[in-house]
Amino acid sequence: PFDVLIVGGGPAGAAAAIYAARKGVRTGVLAERFGGQVMDTMAIENFISVQETEGPKLVAALEAHVKQYDVEVMDGFRAEALVPGEMNEIQVAGGAHLKAKSVIIATGARWREMNVPGEREYRGKGVAYCPHCDGPLFKGKRVAVIGGGNSGVEAAIDLAGIVAHVTLLEFGEQLRADAVLQAKLKSLPNVTIHTMAQTTEVTGADGKVNGLTYTDRNNGESHHVELEGVFVQIGLLPNTDWLKGTVELSRFGEIEINPRCETSVAGVFAAGDATTVPYKQIIIAMGEGSKAALSAFDHLIRASAP
Ligand code: FAD
Repeated sequence: PFDVLIVGGGPAGAAAAIYAARKGVRTGVLAERFGGQVMDTMAIENFISVQETEGPKLVAALEAHVKQYDVEVMDGFRAEALVPGEMNEIQVAGGAHLKAKSVIIATGARWREMNVPGEREYRGKGVAYCPHCDGPLFKGKRVAVIGGGNSGVEAAIDLAGIVAHVTLLEFGEQLRADAVLQAKLKSLPNVTIHTMAQTTEVTGADGKVNGLTYTDRNNGESHHVELEGVFVQIGLLPNTDWLKGTVELSRFGEIEINPRCETSVAGVFAAGDATTVPYKQIIIAMGEGSKAALSAFDHLIRASAP
């Protein structure tokens, strides 16, 4: 059995693996796809101390760092269930069972997509999901933000300080963000808000976004807005369905953790985008993964005390 079994091979899982292995305990990483969301990222400019890098390059460095240690990496395998106990069991798709004294869950999240024509095609070519990551790339340009919840309105306020103009589109009759955020948004001179607006297409030419089309749900009329960027802010979906009923989750499906990355189940820790930790970023996921591994080690030495 493993002393520490990490489920997830993104930045959180990789950091947890290195921290655990450096304690000399038997460490394994089970990942559906090593690298996680970072594999889908092109320019990364906010990974502190690295001015600029690309996702696959950062993943290669993560993998090399993990493999410097005695870590058993099981890439291409999906966990289907966690059975907690004195010895925790992870059930793997295909029928395998792995046993571990402690488990760190770092299964990450994925952004909810609009599922309209052009969205996938122009992903990374104008279609973006993370204002903290990609906002500065649109300096002086025109962008849309899709979604009028807290994340959409926060993104619009953030972007309005960087870009030339922000158009915010909300599907419902009104914005759903907190009142203070709405008031702030409405005070900004370079923001236009459309409610009852259903985005139907992201348009582009020469491999880049040049606008979007939306339907005004009041009268069914279609409108086209010319712009260079579209930030989709309609939700982040944690990869935690397989944990329902085992580990306490928030109403958004995030694993509830305390500042030590402990979950509601003793011996089970969690880190990164799959958890309630605020702000989903690479550097934060790595810090959390490191914390989770130190907590798991602390659990191991206490559990094996004479
Ligand atoms: P993830 O990276 O999501 O990794 C999750 C891991 O768990 C993967 O290995 C996955 O295969 C695995 N997994 C999931 N479910 C299972 C299962 N059931 N069984 C086994 N394995 C499973 N952040 C920045 O800081 N800067 C940026 O510039 C930036 N740009 C981004 C651009 C894009 C397009 C995207 C999508 C994200 C971007 N982010 C950026 C966010 C950043 O990628 C995430 O915050 C970070 O990757 C989270 O790390 P994580 O390890 O928690 O999860």
